Amino acid sequence: MENKDFLIVAHNTAGMLLINKTLQNENINTDLVPAPPQTGTICAIVVKIKGNDLEASKGILEKENVPYRDIIEDRKLKLQGLIDEKLGIAVSNEFLSVLKKIENGDELERNDIVYLLKTDKPKEVDVIFSTADRIRKEMVGDVVEIRGAIEFSNYCCKSCSYCGINAGNRSVARYRMSEEEILKVVDSLHEAGIKTVILQSGEDPLWSTERIIKLIRAIKERTGMRITLSVGERTKAEYEELKANGADNFLLKIETTNRKIFKEVHPDDDYDRRIQCSKWLKELGYINGSGNIIGLPGQEIEDIAGDIMYFKEMGINMIGIGPFIPAKGTPLEHLPHGDIKLTVRTVAVTRIVCKKVYIPSTTALASLDKDAQVWALNAGANTIMLINTPEIYRGSYRIYDNKNMVDMESAIYAVRKTGRKLPAYLRYS
Ligand code: SAM
Repeated sequence: MENKDFLIVAHNTAGMLLINKTLQNENINTDLVPAPPQTGTICAIVVKIKGNDLEASKGILEKENVPYRDIIEDRKLKLQGLIDEKLGIAVSNEFLSVLKKIENGDELERNDIVYLLKTDKPKEVDVIFSTADRIRKEMVGDVVEIRGAIEFSNYCCKSCSYCGINAGNRSVARYRMSEEEILKVVDSLHEAGIKTVILQSGEDPLWSTERIIKLIRAIKERTGMRITLSVGERTKAEYEELKANGADNFLLKIETTNRKIFKEVHPDDDYDRRIQCSKWLKELGYINGSGNIIGLPGQEIEDIAGDIMYFKEMGINMIGIGPFIPAKGTPLEHLPHGDIKLTVRTVAVTRIVCKKVYIPSTTALASLDKDAQVWALNAGANTIMLINTPEIYRGSYRIYDNKNMVDMESAIYAVRKTGRKLPAYLRYS
């Protein structure tokens, strides 16, 4: 029992949050992870606990009268049949030893991850992708979750050197959507059956925490939709208030775990503070999103391996992996974009290492090649974020150049091309 983990399945989201809070109040360590496919829809989140805490947790929930639907064992994923004689001399012994670990459900070490990211042997690359796809299927199923994003302000007080909406970029026209404009888009997403709205902006002081709270309350009242915020660094108290008023998920990408590169591209951010923010989000019970940018200046494969280990160790639930794309008017405007193949490989290796997580097939990938979202879905990704920013503003949310439009039509195209399933909740014609 000691080495096993268990998943507590709630009746609904409010129930899941109550279970999490009740256990945390009694000092039980919990983790929020996407539900395995057999427990219902993939939007569901379950509470993970250690085997050591199973009996105590049951007792606490009973004593506090907190209902739950089920408790199931979180099985270590063993993948039979990865290694067979057909691999023969096409793969190295080092690769075979990494595969053995994956077969047994053992943790990979940094040098294993570096190997998977670096190898150019065609057979090894094939096996990496097929393994990632198999793990995706077993862990989160075949449905590709579709979320709607509204980029509601491109004002930003930060100077991230890669980002096209950084404070110093005079070549971008600034806009700030009103509450009415945002709610109109939310209503249309709700009508389309979409369950999660992502509210993203630059770090805009006029969109104060109080103002965001009013907005999320209004969204909850009229639609009950899940809300993902992507509004940058705030204090713990602010994250707490946002959560208490209805925010469910938060996206705050670490961008890179190489401290030196982090400092160079974020002149006004502190690496430790960024990590602290992410830890607060986790402590507060958010579904915690992070991610990285592939192709930042000076970044090595070893750094990307470090990013993947960070996602695993921090228990990140949603991992956005996108290529760097230069943006006009920024200090990095003349650099080449990040490598598409390496980005897709990073998706695959992240799925192999982090297993039960949401991995979007990112807009940045879609912006470099029409089919790149399909490749990422085939490499382990399982969500797509639609861009629902009204047309009059869309062109000004220019975080990078030639940002592609991901709409319902292109998402359906990508999902159908992979032979995967669209969510049953979606209404589209
Ligand atoms: N301000 C919020 C924050 O910092 O988390 C959210 C907005 S920020 C523009 C959203 C994401 O855009 C960042 O996390 C970053 O990964 C991505 N991004 C910005 N500029 C980019 C670029 N030139 N290439 C690739 N990704 C970029």
